[in-house]
Amino acid sequence: MEVKQFQAESKRLLEMMINSIYTQREIFLRELISNASDAIDKIYYKALTDDNLVFDKDNYFVKISVDKDNRTLIVSDTGIGMTPEELEANLGVIAKSGSLAFKKETELKDGHDIIGQFGVGFYSAFMVADTVKVISRALGSDKAYAWESQGADGYTITEATKDSVGTDIYMKIKENTEDDNYDEFLEQYRLRAIIKKYSDFIKYPIKMEMTSS
Ligand code: ADP
Ligand code: MG
Repeated sequence: MEVKQFQAESKRLLEMMINSIYTQREIFLRELISNASDAIDKIYYKALTDDNLVFDKDNYFVKISVDKDNRTLIVSDTGIGMTPEELEANLGVIAKSGSLAFKKETELKDGHDIIGQFGVGFYSAFMVADTVKVISRALGSDKAYAWESQGADGYTITEATKDSVGTDIYMKIKENTEDDNYDEFLEQYRLRAIIKKYSDFIKYPIKMEMTSS
């Protein structure tokens, strides 16, 4: 299986996220929920001009699932999804909208500024997870693909299965260290509080599901 390399600038941002000592790493959830909401918006707007597509709002939501036993947090959406080409183009390189282009090298070193003021986007998942797997099925396709990365070493894209259109982001939450505890990101009450704090304005329902054995 081919391991693809990140574009140099993406790799730099990614490394910054992986090694982040930023105290507000909870904002990763804001970023993923905002992407999920954008993906649903894209279907909504498409439906306005596409007679074959009906936007029934009951079918569009974001779901947060926690599997504590496997230390896995999943953010799912029923949005527009991504083709393998889009997975590659969107997650392999920094988004063009990326605020990074406006920041100077000195500000980058620290990182606080960027993370606080701007959306750092998808890669912020690596502040809390050591493996991130994105399973996505694009609108109009019956095939799904998985983008997976353990960080700066690159990523793979492989065929996968997914029953419905949309995207599931699986995060394997980091193990605790002497200095750092990540368990809070597997706690329902804590996730709820983070969602309330940063994603209260999201116009689609955000559901939560806990699994435990
Ligand atoms: P931005 O949201 O500023 O574009 P991100 O790093 O957050 O930057 O996301 C990069 C791109 O990846 C998005 O622009 C979008 O095209 C794609 N993307 C990310 N998450 C999703 C998702 N859940 N569904 C569909 N596309 C997504
Ligand atoms: Mg984003």
